[in-house]
Amino acid sequence: MKKAMYPGSFDPITNGHLDIIERASAVFDEVVVVIMQNPKKKNHFSVDERLNMIKEVVKDLKNVSVDAGEGLTVNFAKKNGAKALIRGIRAVTDYEYELQQASANMFLEPSIETIFFLARPEYSFLSSSSVVEMASNNGRITGLVPKCLESRIIERLSTK
Ligand code: ADP
Repeated sequence: MKKAMYPGSFDPITNGHLDIIERASAVFDEVVVVIMQNPKKKNHFSVDERLNMIKEVVKDLKNVSVDAGEGLTVNFAKKNGAKALIRGIRAVTDYEYELQQASANMFLEPSIETIFFLARPEYSFLSSSSVVEMASNNGRITGLVPKCLESRIIERLSTK
């Protein structure tokens, strides 16, 4: 059984993330989406809110589970039996950052591979931060986040 872990902030989950999850779930036997907590990062949604949102949108994908973790991503992956880390690449700017992260992870844990999925062109501009920016300023986020989360995200961010 080949298990992969998709780590990220998912603050909040977007259709770009969901597309990667669906594509990874078709390639690996098992995929665990993990909200990695970085104490240095200021998040818009709590870990519980993010966990609930992701669980809701992956509920029909039978080989996908959701978790939260902290510390080094490779340590979490190893402890959970994941052989690969999934990451997404939208543009060259992502590549530079991802190359650095993947190389550091390779140094820390050579037995775990990082596998990159290219963003679909229609999601290549899409990020959690752009969703937050749009939703907090009454912008339209239809098509950018899963339909079932749209009003929840808008409500949550507009009350801030
Ligand atoms: P992080 O804070 O770890 O970068 P994110 O939640 O922003 O977490 O993203 C997790 C992963 O998903 C990253 O590899 C990122 O490049 C990728 N990703 C984010 N948005 C998209 C998108 N629209 N399409 C494809 N991959 C994406």
